[in-house]
Amino acid sequence: MCRHLAYVGPSVTLASLVLEPVHSLLHQSYAPADMRGGGTINADGFGAGWYPEPGGPAARYRSARPMWSDTAFAAVAATTRSGGVLAAARSATAGMPVVETAAAPFAEGRWLFSHNGVVRGWPGAVAALAAELPVTDLVTLDAPTDSALLWALVRHRLRAGAEPGAALADVVRRVAAAAPGSRLNLLLTDGTGIWATAFDHALAVRTDERSALVASEPLDPDPGWRPVPDRHLLAAAPGTHRCTPLAVPTPDAPTRGASTTQGAR
Ligand code: GLN
Repeated sequence: MCRHLAYVGPSVTLASLVLEPVHSLLHQSYAPADMRGGGTINADGFGAGWYPEPGGPAARYRSARPMWSDTAFAAVAATTRSGGVLAAARSATAGMPVVETAAAPFAEGRWLFSHNGVVRGWPGAVAALAAELPVTDLVTLDAPTDSALLWALVRHRLRAGAEPGAALADVVRRVAAAAPGSRLNLLLTDGTGIWATAFDHALAVRTDERSALVASEPLDPDPGWRPVPDRHLLAAAPGTHRCTPLAVPTPDAPTRGASTTQGAR
């Protein structure tokens, strides 16, 4: 499973988040500490998104290579500064292609998105959910992967004016119901706030008065890191973070509607 992080706060270099901390995303790409049985290393590409101009659209660097082998990124990251960053290191799910466009962040305008996990029963389990999207969105997916479809589902809701946390929660609820056993840690930023779900994978948050940082695994031993409880939605911004339970029916306790649907398949 992938590892990801998002930051909002005073302008910092990409390297100070992605490469330099003792348990940076770079370190997590070859020595992750909390993968929960979902793979061993995160070597199937990586990406970072940031904001060249405050208030402007996001820029991205993505690669299909392991983060540790990309010296060009190290040079760019050392000199690129931003007050908003989202970065990810990918471990491809078996059967999914290792290509640059399958690496997060997925992006539109100011939105940057990442998924850490897997959609069980891909692609059939979520075919009906995908069919709710405009055909144009389906034929222009970044890549034929579960994460790219999850981004299209989130983006569709954002375009319709959904509040970011509500967009993530709705996608997790729908996908979890259609594809039980999925791991759905979603991460979204617009450069000023961070929204994320913890759904069967690790997630931690650290805020102070000026910044907010969310990561699959704490980047350093700072005692300010707090684990995000499983099956929760996180909303974070400088000086504040809030976790709310995700109302998702569990396979053990299906709702009547879900039970009927499962029985029909
Ligand atoms: N399943 C997704 C992919 O292969 C997400 C990556 C991960 O978390 N392993 O792209």
